[in-house]
Amino acid sequence: MKKKNDTLYGGAGSNTRLAHMGHDPSGYHGFVNPPVVHASTVLFPDSATMEKRAQKYTYGTRATPTTDALCAAFDELEGSAGTILVPSGLAAISVPFLAYLSAGDHALIVDSVYSPCRNFCNTMLKRLGVEIDYYDPEIGADIAKLIKPNTRLIHTEAPGSNTMEMQDIRAITTEAHKPSHGRDIVVTMDNTWATPLYFRPLDFGVDVSIHATTKYPSGHSDIIMGSVHANAKHWPALEEARITMGICGAPDDSYQILRGLRTMGIRLEHHQKSALDVAKWLEGRDDVARVLHPALPSFPGHDIWKRDFKGASGVFSFVLKSDAAKSREKAHAFLDALSFFGLGYSWGGYESLAVPVNLSDRTIRTAPTDGALIRLQIGLEDIADLKKDLEAGFAAAAAV
Ligand SMILES: *Cc1c(COP(=O)(O)O)cnc(C)c1O
Repeated sequence: MKKKNDTLYGGAGSNTRLAHMGHDPSGYHGFVNPPVVHASTVLFPDSATMEKRAQKYTYGTRATPTTDALCAAFDELEGSAGTILVPSGLAAISVPFLAYLSAGDHALIVDSVYSPCRNFCNTMLKRLGVEIDYYDPEIGADIAKLIKPNTRLIHTEAPGSNTMEMQDIRAITTEAHKPSHGRDIVVTMDNTWATPLYFRPLDFGVDVSIHATTKYPSGHSDIIMGSVHANAKHWPALEEARITMGICGAPDDSYQILRGLRTMGIRLEHHQKSALDVAKWLEGRDDVARVLHPALPSFPGHDIWKRDFKGASGVFSFVLKSDAAKSREKAHAFLDALSFFGLGYSWGGYESLAVPVNLSDRTIRTAPTDGALIRLQIGLEDIADLKKDLEAGFAAAAAV
């Protein structure tokens, strides 16, 4: 069997790459999967080698064959120069922010951002002397008007968390990287929803792509991990921050995420198909005010999604129609009547979930006035059962 190399991947489809990337069996006795290496100490053959650290692996926090296999797989998917593994998706936001931002810098954060990111910015980053402004997700090239002489980082997330607004990523990176600013602005993107299979941020000028690998790469609601992927220009600072802060990926979790990636393509196809089916079905109901799903032609931002994204994953939201006085009570009745849909945070696992969305920390894209916002993750269950479950929810809401 020929050794795998870069030319093998050239032009190969995404499921082929998912099946083969990251680990070369010929490099480890032919075993299809990489070993799970539990390690702190790595021994050196002699003191001269130790002094120069002249061998591939030197210490457990730096890298192991397990973390290397996962990072190589992500670099292949993202087109990145380097990947770091961190203990959660939230750390995949906070660690690069700490890597690139210093006291006196200004950061622009999208208003529809994953809410704990906002908390990190408003507390720790502000305490460290970083100035924060939030911007409208649909700002596009007008981001230029918000860039100040000390702007150092622009954070994007598309679709936005819970409210699903699309962003014109190319327009933002183009403005951010104009030499006329006289400043090197880093554009980061939380790409958790699309995964690199449906959107490749670095191809659109983003410098640093961020993932809660907790979600689709894990796929089974049993692992918390994050990953960050940088282009060549911004890789050294990211790697240095990781080493300086003492952050590394745990061996068993790294192994499980690589395992999850192997099936992520076919899982996502199923999530996509089922979620779109449910979204269209919801859109036709009188008790639903709006369905917020970028792949629906009715959704503002659909054109951007269609132009830039290769697919849609299984998470979207809808507004359960209600007057303001009853909206909370109706949402609770709806959610409490569900059986297959669990009430729980996170998503990306095999099971369906529902969450009442709280937008109280938003300053621009605030809560809807035509009812309660509910977020769904459509899992791998049979669609007829999920619809029956949702029907029960609507019946309970109607009885309020
Ligand atoms: C879940 C999520 C995160 C955080 O991931 P954790 O592993 O739960 O910390 C970050 N960004 C987005 C968009 C998410 O949905």
